[in-house]
Parts: sequence; structure tokens; C-alpha cells
Amino acid sequence: LVVVVGSCMTDLVSLTSRLPKTGETIHGHKFFIGFGGKGANQCVQAARLGAKTSIVCKVGKDSFGNDYIENFRQNGISTEFTYQTEEAATGAASIIVNNEGQNIIVIVAGANLLLNSEDLKKAANVISRARVMICQLEISPATSLEALIMARRSGVKTLFNPAPAMADLDPKFYSLSSVFCCNESEAEILTDLVVGSPEEAGKAALVLLERGCQVVVITLGAAGCVTLSQMEPVPKHIPTEAVKAVDTTGAGDSFVGALAFYLAYYPNLSLEEMIKRANFIAAISVQSAGTQSSYPYKKDLPL
Ligand code: ADP
Repeated sequence: LVVVVGSCMTDLVSLTSRLPKTGETIHGHKFFIGFGGKGANQCVQAARLGAKTSIVCKVGKDSFGNDYIENFRQNGISTEFTYQTEEAATGAASIIVNNEGQNIIVIVAGANLLLNSEDLKKAANVISRARVMICQLEISPATSLEALIMARRSGVKTLFNPAPAMADLDPKFYSLSSVFCCNESEAEILTDLVVGSPEEAGKAALVLLERGCQVVVITLGAAGCVTLSQMEPVPKHIPTEAVKAVDTTGAGDSFVGALAFYLAYYPNLSLEEMIKRANFIAAISVQSAGTQSSYPYKKDLPL
């Protein structure tokens, strides 16, 4: 069982030839609604690979919330702890993308920020039964921290994805992370170092490891990842597949969801092998448009 304690967001996407100016109304040429939010994305990827999954999250008592619950069901994810509230709307991202692929985005986290301690207590049983629990920072950091504490108390492996990054992250997050997985810009914010090359990422990973994580993974887009662990505190670069990227939105979430799957279901694989496989899966996700819609299923993988 993989449990995610995290966010859900409805993406409202308009495609336009250019971005509007203040006060201006323009015509776009296409509109679509997508399922997003880091927690939900990661859960969907783990489920599609064959993990038994449950998501602890909060949506509004509104049509977007209802649709999101249906999306979880279609992906085989347990919604027993998907709460609906009347106090806020389902998290939403209003996104405008021009022909050059530039965008402006407003995110309203809404119901995500209302996921609280009481909600976690109701889900305590499922958290304690998980092989891996994943958390991010799109819900209240206090709730993420409490979830990590609950998981650790029950001996559950924790995969923490500090996204979106906070410069003043509570140091407890590091020691509560079995695996601390972030991308290069998050690593920069957390360490104040420049993280571009694998070598620079290795230095940043060492700084994060010294803060108390057991394993650190920094994803580097087309350059793959850098990882190290308390057992092997020497940075290792693990390249990914060379592919033609069409849309990299949500690649990091595909990677995190896949890594959780391997940690939970193939715990005897080496860390390097798990990362290679997660790289492979995330590389599939960048080759078609959309976020969850580009995530592969178990049947799409070579044996
Ligand atoms: P984020 O989506 O958080 O910015 P990254 O861009 O670092 O995360 O991507 C996460 C993972 O997705 C990478 O480690 C890699 O495995 C895969 N990936 C991302 N972009 C590409 C690409 N252009 N080609 C191949 N794999 C990619």
C-alpha cells in the first residue's frame, strides 16, 4: 500500500495566441480541464504501475471535487480518506498558455489548506499500514509534518517531496524523510547553492543529506538524477533516457510516484535500479501532452 497525504488541483487551461494585458479581454482558441496537484499526480502514477493506493486529501463540496473523486476511482485509488468540505472550493489552477508556450498561472489551494490534524487522525490506520507514505508542500506544512511523524512512528517509509520549495523549511522535515526527493530549483532554494550540473547537484545533495535525510534524490530534468544516502554518501549521477520532450509538466510527480511504487513493491532492488526505472517512467510522461494523461500504465512498460 502506498498512501499519499497531499494536494488535488483542477487545472483550467486556456490556450491563446498571446497573454492578455491588465484589464484586457481576449479570445483564446482552446480550453480544457485537467486533473493536477502534486499529491494526486504522484498517487495516480503509483496506482497506474500497480500499487494499491489511498489518498488522504481534501476537496470542495463542488462539481470539481466530485469530478476529482471520480478520477481517483477510475485510477483505482481508494477515496475513503478524500474529504469534502463546504468551507472552501476544490483547489484550482487557472492557466493561460500562449503559442510560444509561455504561461501565467494563478493557483488557489482552497480546500487543500484545510486538510488538518483531525483528518489525519481519522486516517491513522491506513497510514500505519502503508509500506510508503508520500507528502509534499501543497497542503499546510504543519499537516505534512504531522503525517510524516505518524508514518515514522509506525515504521512506514517516508518519501518527502519539498514542493513548492520553502526557503525556511522546518529542519524536522529532513530527519523525518526516508527519501528526500526534489528538483534542481527546489534544491537551490533549500541550500542556497547553484544547482545546474550533476556535479553541483551532488554538492547540494550532500548538504541536504547532512541535515538528516536517509536518502537524497535531486532530479535534473533531461539530465536524470543525482542521488546519495547515509549508507553511500558519495553522489551518483543516474542519467535518464534521451527522448523528444513534448510536455514536461508533471514529470517530477511521475518520477516521485514511480519511485514510491518501487520502494513499496520492490524493496530489494538497489536504490540505483529504482531510480533508473523511475527515470524511464518519467521519460515516458514527457513524450505526450498533459499531466496525468501522459502517465504510463504497467502495461506500457517493457518486462
Ligand atoms: P520537475 O517536473 O519537478 O521539474 P524534472 O524536470 O527534474 O522535475 O524531471 C523529473 C524527472 O523526469 C527527471 O529526473 C527525468 O527522469 C524525467 N525527465 C524530465 N524531463 C525529461 C526530458 N526532457 N527527457 C527525459 N526525461 C525527462
